[in-house]
This record gives sequence, structure tokens and C-alpha cells, in this order.
Amino acid sequence: MPGLSKRTADFTDSVIRRMTRISNKFGAVNLSQGFPDFAPPDALTTRLAQVANEDFHQYSITWGAQNFREALAEKYEHFSGQKVDPNGEIVVTCGSTEAMMAAMMTVADPGDKVIVFSPFYENYGADTILSGAVPIYVPLVPPDFTFDADLLEEAFRQHPKALILCNPSNPCGKVFLYDELKTIADLAVKYDTFIITDEVYEHIVYRPYEHTYIATLPGMRERVIQCSSLSKTYSVTGWRLGYIIAAPEIIDTAKKVHDFLTVGAAAPLQEAAVTGLKFGDEYYEMLREEYTAKRDLFLKGLDDLGIAHTVPQGAYYILLDISEYGYESDLDFCEKLAERVGVGAVPGSSFFREPENRYIRLHFAKKEETLNEALCRLEKMKKVM
Ligand code: GLN
Repeated sequence: MPGLSKRTADFTDSVIRRMTRISNKFGAVNLSQGFPDFAPPDALTTRLAQVANEDFHQYSITWGAQNFREALAEKYEHFSGQKVDPNGEIVVTCGSTEAMMAAMMTVADPGDKVIVFSPFYENYGADTILSGAVPIYVPLVPPDFTFDADLLEEAFRQHPKALILCNPSNPCGKVFLYDELKTIADLAVKYDTFIITDEVYEHIVYRPYEHTYIATLPGMRERVIQCSSLSKTYSVTGWRLGYIIAAPEIIDTAKKVHDFLTVGAAAPLQEAAVTGLKFGDEYYEMLREEYTAKRDLFLKGLDDLGIAHTVPQGAYYILLDISEYGYESDLDFCEKLAERVGVGAVPGSSFFREPENRYIRLHFAKKEETLNEALCRLEKMKKVM
């Protein structure tokens, strides 16, 4: 057999998705791969059922259905205060996973450098490998996951093509403050670098924190490629609806990359999702309240069990420190946790560039009863691990 591509030689499968399979094998409460076990809003599923009998079964426009882009532009302007042209500045993609990949392919050539904060969402590693880019990692230092501006500038001095910014951050739950975004923005201007964002948790932010779109900072509109999705905001991770928002010159190229990668996102799902994009403020307020209640319930439960954890400012992940258990491998710990305790988690090492082995990631995008069941099981963690 001829050799497979060199590009894929360093690939492992996704540890996040692998942990879902392991959780299922042991009948564990799966708090590894981040997706809800509750239903999307009724209005979305009702509309989806109607759409089945309407004329949305062929390709939509490759860069996204007109009404979807218009509704998205309106929603984005409402929350960011920034106007977006639905025709020239948006591409609808198959989830933000494709959005990020298409953004990378749009700006980076093989050998180009890209700054990635560590810990990072594991797809960014694969995105750089597939596009041939070379990552430069800059640590977000626990416990508060701040970065050192001098270290960041050192990375910029290597003249990267882009920086990847996940805000709110998966897995550490950091919400970047305005001043931090300003530091990043100023460096991006100084070293003429693109910023590719992953803002899928833009509406899952806990008070007093607020999400700031870095694209709204002075001078950023022309160099920020914003990627986001409907997955987390409307609890529809399986619909695979994402998008890129950027300046027209960037979108022109991103449209072509996207067209040749996937042609387009599913037409019936785009049509149904327009309903969600048109929700009023009360929906997003309710989302925030519901996630705040889940976070508080889960964190209090862990506190009651004496289990130390990070406190997320946004997104729905927490990191538990497992150093007291003395495991050499956090992957081994997670496999045993699924088997012996019956809770699925992701080993922290799949997010850190540094040789970090002391964290596991759990998420709380689950019904109250699921979280209570997980807490009930975690009670025996100290005894059996
Ligand atoms: N973003 C989610 C996570 O980090 C889901 C990832 C995925 O499997 N697409 O778990």
C-alpha cells in the first residue's frame, strides 16, 4: 500500500470524542464532550418539522441562505454594535469547526506561524497541522489563566500570520477583559497579524463578566476573522451550523475555501435556525440564567464533596485538579474514572501544550438531574481512584 499523507502522520483521534465512546462503553454520565442533554427551544424544533414539508431540500447559496445571513447580521449588530454586510461579510459553514479550518486555510500558507494560547481547544492543533501552519504556544497561566504580555510580544516577534483567540475560553472558562483584548489587538496591529476568533460561547458568560467582540476594538475590523456557531447558543450541536464574519476581501477568499470544502451547510437546518436568530433579548437572558444555575449547582456539589475546581467566567467547563491522586497519566485517570466512578471526563493534557498532567475537564451543559447523578457518583471518587 502506498504511504498515507505526511500531513496526517502526527494525527491522533480526538481525545474529546474518544472519551465519549469510553463513557458510553462504561455507562458513565458523560461530562466529557461538551454538548447538552436537554432539548433545543421548542420554536426551533417546531419550525424544523414544518421545514420538512417546504421547499428547502436542495443546496442553499453556497455561502449561506440569504435570510439566514440577514438574520445573523442583524443579531450580530444587536450584540456587538457593529454593522455587518450579510452579502459580503458572512460565510455560513458546517459548524465553527469548518469555520476555523476555512479561516486558517484562508490566511495561512504551509510554514506560516500561528499563535495559539495554551490551554487550547484540541481542534486548533489539528487545524494547524492540516493547513501546514506552525503553532507558537503562549501559556495562559492557572489559576486565573492570565498571559504575560512580554511573552506574547515575543511570540509576535516571530511574525506569525495569525493568532487564534478562543473567547470565552474552552477549556479554562476565561473571559478576556477589555484591557487584555486591547493588548492583543495592539500587538496584532504592530506586527500586522490576523486574529482568528472562536466565539462559540459568546452567550454563555456569567455575571459580572460580559463578552467583548475583539472585532469591535479600534482597527480590528479588517484583521479579525470571527468564527462562531449556533451549536451552544441554541443547543443544536448536531445541526452543524457555524459561520465566519470578516471584511469583504477576506470573505471573498473564505467563500471559495468553504465552497470547495463542503459546498454548504444543510439548507433545511439553516431555514429552521432563522427562527432562533430572530429571538429577542429575553432568550439570551434566560440562557445565561439557566447556565448560571447549572454552574452554581455543580460547583456547590463539588465544594460539598471537597473537590477543588476552577470557577468558569464563561463557557461550561471546569478543570479539576487530580494531582493528589498520584496518577502518571491523566488519560489513565479518566478511563478509570469512567469505569470505577461512572463519570466521563477529558484529560487536561489534551488541551495543554505544557507537560501538564494534573487536570481533568468536566462540563455542565446537562439537565439538573444529570448533574445530580454525576455528583452522586463523584462522591466515591476519593475512595476508589
Ligand atoms: N466543543 C465541545 C468540547 O470541547 C465539543 C467538541 C466536539 O466534539 N465538537 O467538548
